[in-house]
Amino acid sequence: MNVDRAITAVSGILGDRLTRSDADRKAHGISESYFPVTPPDAVAYPETTEEVSRILAACSEHGCPVVGWGAGTSLEGHALAVRGGICVDFSRMDKLLSVNDADMDATVQPGLTREALNRELRATGLFFPVDPGANASLGGMAATRASGTTTVRYGTMADNVLGLEVVLADGRVIRTGTRARKTAAGYDMTRLFVGSEGTLGLITELTLRLHGQPEAISAGVCAFDDMGAAVDTVIATIQFGIPVARIEFVDADTAAAVNAYSGMDFPLKPHLLVEFHGSPQSVADDATRFGELVEEMGGGPFRWSPKAEDRSALWEMRHKAYYAILASRKGARAVVTDICVPISRLAEAVEETRADIAASPIPGPIIGHVGDGNFHAILMVNDEAPGELAAAKALSHRMVERALRLGGTATGEHGVGMGKTDYMEAEHGQTWAAMGDIKRALDPTGILNPGKLVPPSN
Ligand SMILES: Cc1cc2nc3c(=O)[nH]c(=O)nc-3n(C[C@H](O)[C@H](O)[C@H](O)COP(=O)(O)OP(=O)(O)OC[C@H]3O[C@@H](n4cnc5c(N)ncnc54)[C@H](O)[C@@H]3O)c2cc1C
Repeated sequence: MNVDRAITAVSGILGDRLTRSDADRKAHGISESYFPVTPPDAVAYPETTEEVSRILAACSEHGCPVVGWGAGTSLEGHALAVRGGICVDFSRMDKLLSVNDADMDATVQPGLTREALNRELRATGLFFPVDPGANASLGGMAATRASGTTTVRYGTMADNVLGLEVVLADGRVIRTGTRARKTAAGYDMTRLFVGSEGTLGLITELTLRLHGQPEAISAGVCAFDDMGAAVDTVIATIQFGIPVARIEFVDADTAAAVNAYSGMDFPLKPHLLVEFHGSPQSVADDATRFGELVEEMGGGPFRWSPKAEDRSALWEMRHKAYYAILASRKGARAVVTDICVPISRLAEAVEETRADIAASPIPGPIIGHVGDGNFHAILMVNDEAPGELAAAKALSHRMVERALRLGGTATGEHGVGMGKTDYMEAEHGQTWAAMGDIKRALDPTGILNPGKLVPPSN
């Protein structure tokens, strides 16, 4: 491995768009999570697929690690250059390349963010629904198989990526998928790269499935006296087929944090935040039906509105919940962890987690995309207080054990990165070794995001 030679070669390709400045390296060595700062040796800012291909060919020749970088919002240390090397930042490849109204798809570069895409789509009557809260890049979202508040209705990135252009470790450029809505032509290579966290190739173009902007939207919020009733309401909503477009849970601690942060006055109780998409009549009917169910389950009232401004305030509050929680404990940082279980086991998973956190020395508000059986604990750790980080890691570990015991997964959406690698064998058994075989076939020298996702020997 010769990182310096690779950097010299890439410098010859990009000129001053390859930088070794401390500021750039540091900015690409931090993450939203608790992992220590791990700067890469250099940061590259390519502008074309050809440049990405030449970077990878050079890095392959010199055995230099390469880590893709979208918006840097991932939560399990995914984009940290733990073995050094070159970080490839896609922020200059951020164009919307084409929109095909008739087929409802769009082709984009990986650095385009989901908010920027939806701004550009506004006049078309179409939108891209996957919403991880953070304004992540579409390349990063595909690489982590992101999902979020709207997944209960529109699916994850796996459901909404039709095809990809990918640069392989040796610099070859391949295309996966077509613009057709379905295919039976061979291995599903698109889904292989979606969720591969930059370990199999770098994504340089994505063709995305778009959806029609709903004619009408209603959204509302309701409180419950206890967490169990809120979660049971979610389960009943899904089982009765009430067509929610979003159904989000926030616990009483989160309500308190949001009140303090955003000047709101939510009762200090668990809440559900819900949205419906359809015609003016159907969204009113759905909201009414949901409100009746909430009251039957002992919660409510369900206050809803068809007005855009009310809805924006509600979802802005939800999207800021993470930052409200961060602000709720001075000097603390967050260990964010997510698990996902079958919907029938959701109440058990949330209740056990709540009790476990309550018995620990640290606060840990719970929020989640509960319509998918997915929830997060934001474990707030004060570095000065001995034992708190260890307590958070132990809680996160027990959450994963709980998820696996209940038939679920170690992570519903945040992904594996460094933080969840230790659970891959328990979740996948021999399949994890097979993932290592795929990795070796596509990246024989192991230069792509080493130290992540696959078995350590790879
Ligand atoms: C407040 C907050 C809320 C969040 N909520 C959610 C949520 O609800 N749902 C959810 O899924 N996630 C959530 N996340 C996590 C995060 O937003 C997602 O993981 C997101 O998909 C990461 O995208 P990014 O552009 O920031 O990627 P980065 O963090 O830059 O990179 C993530 C991974 O993708 C790789 N990568 C990046 N670009 C490429 C590329 N072009 N080709 C190949 N590999 C690449 C990187 O090497 C890395 O392994 C949240 C994060 C925050 C801070």
